[in-house]
Amino acid sequence: MSIDSDKLINDIINLNKLTDNKHMISEELLSEIITPEWYYSDSERIFANIKISWDSLLQSEFTNNISLNVNRFTIMRRDIVFEKSFCTWYQPYHLLPRTKWGIHIRSSSWMKVSSQLNKECPHLISKLDESIVAAFLYIYFHGAFHYTVENAISTMELSTSNSSFYSDYYIHNYLKTFNTSDCIEESLANAYLYENASECRINKEYLKNELINQGDAYADFLKYIDNDNLFNGCQELIMQIKNKHKDLLDYEFKNLEYFFNIKSLEFMLQNQIPIWLHHSPKPIH
Ligand SMILES: [Zn+2]
Repeated sequence: MSIDSDKLINDIINLNKLTDNKHMISEELLSEIITPEWYYSDSERIFANIKISWDSLLQSEFTNNISLNVNRFTIMRRDIVFEKSFCTWYQPYHLLPRTKWGIHIRSSSWMKVSSQLNKECPHLISKLDESIVAAFLYIYFHGAFHYTVENAISTMELSTSNSSFYSDYYIHNYLKTFNTSDCIEESLANAYLYENASECRINKEYLKNELINQGDAYADFLKYIDNDNLFNGCQELIMQIKNKHKDLLDYEFKNLEYFFNIKSLEFMLQNQIPIWLHHSPKPIH
C-alpha cells in the first residue's frame, strides 16, 4: 500500500472548505510554544528538489556551503531539544494560513547539532559534511514523525468526512500537554528518531544518551523503543482521538498501520515535506 501525500493534503483542504474552515487551527497557537521571534522570522525553503537520502544530502551544494560555518559553534545541548529550545518545529497543514507548513529548522541549532556530532559521535568525528547530514536527519526524522501523525489523523477525517479530529487533538491533547511528560507525541517522535538512528548514521548508544537528557516527554522515548512498543504507542495516541469522537467508534487502527510501520521509510523520505530554514530572529516589540 502506498499513500499519495499530496492528494491526502488536497483532500483535507477540500474537506475543510466544505465546512468553511471552521476546524482549521490559527497559526498563532503554534507561536505560543515556538517563541514569536523565531516563529515569525524569515525563512528560506531548502532541499526542495532533492530526494531526502544520505548520498543526495551529502552531495548537495547547500551542505557543502554551510560546512564552512560549523566550526564556529560550540556544543550547547540545551539549544538542540527540538521544539523545547526552538531548534526545530513542525507546522501542520491544518494550520491557517497554510503558507509555510512543513519542518522548520533554526540554522544555528542545526549547526550546533552538527558541531556536537562532529566532536563526539563515534564514526562522525572529524567528518564535517557527514556530521551536517547526520544532524539534518536527526532533525528531519523527529519532525517527519509529527507529519506522519497529522497524515494518519487526516486519513481518519477523510474516512468519516469529519474535519474536526486534528484540530481537537492538536489543541486539547498536543498543545495542552506540551512541555510535560504527558505529551506522548514528543516521546514517540524521539522513539521514531531513535529507531532510525542507523538511517541518520548516528551511533545508537550515543543517541540514546543524548535523548535521555532532553527531559520530560522527550526523554520518555525509552518507553516506546524495542519490539512493538513504538507501534503500540502510536495506537495509544490514536486512542486519545478515537475515545472522544463517536463517529470513530468502528474505526480500525489497522487502516493506519501503513503510517506507523517503522519500515515504511520510503514514505518518509520522498521529500514531500517542505523544509524551511530560519537564520535570525525577528525583532518583536
Ligand atoms: Zn517534536
